[in-house]
Amino acid sequence: MMFKSTSLQQYNTFGLNAMAKKFAAFNNIEECKLLLAAAAQQQMPVRILGGGSNILLTQDVEHVLLKNDLLGMALLDRLGDLQLVSAAAGESWHSFVLWTLDQGLQGLENLSLIPGTVGAAPIQNIGAYGVEIKDYFHSLVAIDISSGHQHTFLKQDCEFGYRESIFKKKRAGEFVICEVRFLLNTIPKYNTSYGAIGEVIAQQGVQDISARAISKAIIAIRQSKLPDPAVIGNAGSFFKNPEISTERHDALVQLHPQMPSYKVNDNSVKVPAGWLIEQCGWKGYSANGVGVHKLQALVLVNYGQGKGQDVYKLSADIIASVQEKFDIVLEREVNIW
Ligand SMILES: Cc1cc2nc3c(=O)[nH]c(=O)nc-3n(C[C@H](O)[C@H](O)[C@H](O)COP(=O)(O)OP(=O)(O)OC[C@H]3O[C@@H](n4cnc5c(N)ncnc54)[C@H](O)[C@@H]3O)c2cc1C
Repeated sequence: MMFKSTSLQQYNTFGLNAMAKKFAAFNNIEECKLLLAAAAQQQMPVRILGGGSNILLTQDVEHVLLKNDLLGMALLDRLGDLQLVSAAAGESWHSFVLWTLDQGLQGLENLSLIPGTVGAAPIQNIGAYGVEIKDYFHSLVAIDISSGHQHTFLKQDCEFGYRESIFKKKRAGEFVICEVRFLLNTIPKYNTSYGAIGEVIAQQGVQDISARAISKAIIAIRQSKLPDPAVIGNAGSFFKNPEISTERHDALVQLHPQMPSYKVNDNSVKVPAGWLIEQCGWKGYSANGVGVHKLQALVLVNYGQGKGQDVYKLSADIIASVQEKFDIVLEREVNIW
């Protein structure tokens, strides 16, 4: 039998227990196409699974669930000071970042230690510490789930935005991303302006800044701030930071003078969702085996025996209370399954 009923507990970083009724993994494109054809024959909708670090399982998965295990990384063309590189979608994102550093390439170091796979990275245009993948993205190759045909998407086709792309919105669920290409710097061009990067590099006693030093600093910062999913189940930031107009911001600051924000453009600002959630008293909340992390209010957690529906219900309660107190509607970053 091509598809197997499989427990997903080890396949999602929340550690939630749900079943995939029809599960299979693929290691090459031909296998992927065969599985898509088999699903089409059974008239079954398809979902793709990477590292399971950005999904919340609220029920068993009725779709055919295909786990992407495509592997491989390669240096492609050199274009002046830039190097084109490629990674298969099933590669671990962090391993790929470390590999680019081993090749002496710069650009992805600020995105060190983000969990998940290369193939999922474009879906929400992963970002951290002042960099998003769109800054270095070149193109990707994907298979259309309904036709089995291969397509190339260039950067301008992907409609990247803050934790968004065409693959999360307009054309969500239509493609299997198989390979992603990036254009990286061969000469130093660093971004150390964000957060405590510079400070941590200094603390680590590093004299000369390098992509490797930035990566090490970011790994240390992330390990000190974010709960490790191997210890407490979570999917990183559960909500996006809301963007509001400057007028709305100015009015809110009258009521909440401590409210932090950062400028997006002349007309809008972003407000840290974690601060809003904390102000509503949720930080450290825990019930039914799920809760809000005690150090990071943006991260919802499963303490071990929790249920996806309880995490979802908690997220709905948080959205309602933030809306009531600030009249701001939080949007979930995590994909609800
Ligand atoms: C501790 C922690 C910290 C995190 N920090 C960050 C952060 O700093 N910045 C950030 O942006 N994100 C962060 N995340 C979220 C997460 O790591 C990213 O969204 C990551 O890209 C998800 O990869 P994945 O392979 O686990 O995707 P999955 O969770 O497996 O899938 C996510 C979505 O992408 C789809 N998908 C996955 N692979 C493919 C494919 N090959 N083709 C088509 N669709 C696919 C799935 O169907 C699903 O809809 C964090 C998560 C955790 C647990």
